Amino acid sequence: MQEVLNQLKELSNNLYWTWNNDFIAIMEEINRDFWKWSSKNPVKFFEAIDRQYLFDIIEKRNLRYRIHNLYRDYRKYLTSKETYFEKKFYKTDKPEICYLSAEYGLAKSLKFYSGGLGTLSGDHLKSASDLGIPLVAVGLAYSHGYFRQIIGDDNRQTELFEQSDFNSMPMRLVLDEEYRPVKITIDLPGRKLHAQIWQLNVGRVKLFLLDTFVDENTVDDKRITDILYGGDVEKRILQEILLGIGGMRVLDVLGLEPKAFHINEGHSAFLVFERIKNKMSREKLKYKEARELCYYSNIFTTHTPVPAGIDIFPRWMTEKYFGEYAAEELNIDFGALFSEGSNLYGQSAGDNFNMAYLAINNSHFINGVSKLHGEISRKMWKLPETRSQIDSITNGVHTKTYLSWVSEKIYSKNFGKDWIDVENIWQKISELPDEELWNLRNQNRKKLVEFVRERIIDKEILLHENDSKVAEAKKLLDENALTIGFARRFATYKRGTLILSDIERLQRILEDSGRKVQLIFSGKAHPKDEGGKSYISEILKFARTNGFKKNIVFLDNYDMEVAKRLVSGCDVWLNNPRRPLEASGTSGMKTIANGGLNFSILDGWWVEGFAEDTGWKIQSLENEEGYSDGQVNEFESKSLYDSLEKEIIPMFYERNEAGIPVNWIKKIRGSISKLAPVFNTGRMVKEYHKKFYSKVK
Ligand SMILES: *Cc1c(COP(=O)(O)O)cnc(C)c1O
Repeated sequence: MQEVLNQLKELSNNLYWTWNNDFIAIMEEINRDFWKWSSKNPVKFFEAIDRQYLFDIIEKRNLRYRIHNLYRDYRKYLTSKETYFEKKFYKTDKPEICYLSAEYGLAKSLKFYSGGLGTLSGDHLKSASDLGIPLVAVGLAYSHGYFRQIIGDDNRQTELFEQSDFNSMPMRLVLDEEYRPVKITIDLPGRKLHAQIWQLNVGRVKLFLLDTFVDENTVDDKRITDILYGGDVEKRILQEILLGIGGMRVLDVLGLEPKAFHINEGHSAFLVFERIKNKMSREKLKYKEARELCYYSNIFTTHTPVPAGIDIFPRWMTEKYFGEYAAEELNIDFGALFSEGSNLYGQSAGDNFNMAYLAINNSHFINGVSKLHGEISRKMWKLPETRSQIDSITNGVHTKTYLSWVSEKIYSKNFGKDWIDVENIWQKISELPDEELWNLRNQNRKKLVEFVRERIIDKEILLHENDSKVAEAKKLLDENALTIGFARRFATYKRGTLILSDIERLQRILEDSGRKVQLIFSGKAHPKDEGGKSYISEILKFARTNGFKKNIVFLDNYDMEVAKRLVSGCDVWLNNPRRPLEASGTSGMKTIANGGLNFSILDGWWVEGFAEDTGWKIQSLENEEGYSDGQVNEFESKSLYDSLEKEIIPMFYERNEAGIPVNWIKKIRGSISKLAPVFNTGRMVKEYHKKFYSKVK
């Protein structure tokens, strides 16, 4: 029995479990309530659970064999010599690429992410691990992470920042031979900043996160890594100094020497200075020579098409933190350092230091995250023809992370346990019989309805609401109704309330008794985004109006778990950003393998994904024509309603003798066979490797 426990503990400490549905199922079978209590964190779970109880349950439920198999698969995965990279290229134990990001979305219980940028970074690491790409990653260990969303009776979002206990999480402090934490230091005006390092294992890939909660730091400095995207501009520059400069020092103290550096969004771009500094001192070079050499091994991925979305720091603040660094470490005057971030081939950021300018000026390889975003970025930052141009690599998702237990079971029943490695698997899945694909949808939708009810009941019980509220929650939603989902950060450009533009029309759509339609919303607004918060209030008000209680739900506290439930349970995934502001978008990709269908504005990835046989589009008005926001919203919401009324709802409810919506299934076939093989991070990371990583010598 001790062996089983050791295996479970080892499994808990590698985030491999986050994309292993069987592990999650085993946790639920051991004790569902306890799994919930642990916030679905297996390390905490096994720390706290009673040994004897655990052993008894494993025997009683016959789990020993399953755990053993799971463990064997895990060991095989970790030690495989058959990875994409090793088969195609060469064998190496040393990381060659360093990936840096301000956020990582790896699991619900690791609150180091706020939205799509984070889940993309997490998925990047997972796929790098699957492919055997020699990559190491660096980020920040936020003690309070991103907030828990609380929705009050007043329909307002409030934020609760909870402290994580890193010691009970799948991460461990990096220690030296004498079991003392390994630390890095950075000179700040009048003091030193110290940080310790946490290691997370993402399959084969190691992720190192910096943490400033150490005794040597002042109270204020300890708080540098408390909150993700919180505080003022000065706190932001400190976080970014820690990520960029500190990130490079992590590699040094750990003796790692990657040759390519992937700056995922501008937050980590200060690393370019530290790399130049290291090159100067190690190879006895002048600033200019070192800068030129580093340039060819930096990779910059930009994620926003709006200049306002990019971090900028005032000149005085940049000088405060980099004045001495310029003179003493780089041997240049501050003006020269400042111009790296204020001057982009003649475009000027004025008296500000722009992190994207810094990254672009210092990276040979630059990309946007969809074809359209690549184009927009080339227009936004006109680079001279004498230098490399902005390319694009379209985002993807780590398919298994978002695949439901239901979907996974149906696939493994038909194609075996290692179904995902079967050649042309998506083509084959799309050719499953009508009944099987419809069964996949019905089961996924049913699970979602159960999940929503349970979440709401749990909340009512917590609030000591009366039994009638609980009884009401048990009747929420209908497991057979057409289910439309909208969930993502509530940034205003994503227009969470577009579908509420014409309440009467929406009412008619929702109340057609023969053809039930239900809507599920979820998402957090940034604490300072009053616009986004008011959108949430508007939806809540609407959802809580009597007539709509049953078929419109706003699920609070959107996170990776809610995302997985929604993308698998919803029949239609709605996305209506203001074009072209959605650089890529990824949540829609998560629905594909679960048989969900996309209904979206032609923005970001959907420009590439949409075809008549893969989903639906919402017509958009082009910005350049000078339409007002109101006109654009009116036109686009009309298109949204038209498609719902004329195409989507009729198609879902048009059934054959066996009760199957044959044309709907046809669309699912098109979506799975054409989109699933493309919009995944396996394809994406291979593309980064081929175009960028492998070009760095
Ligand atoms: C995938 C995901 C996102 C990104 O959603 P978009 O629709 O691409 O903006 C945000 N948050 C969570 C929790 C996600 O899983």
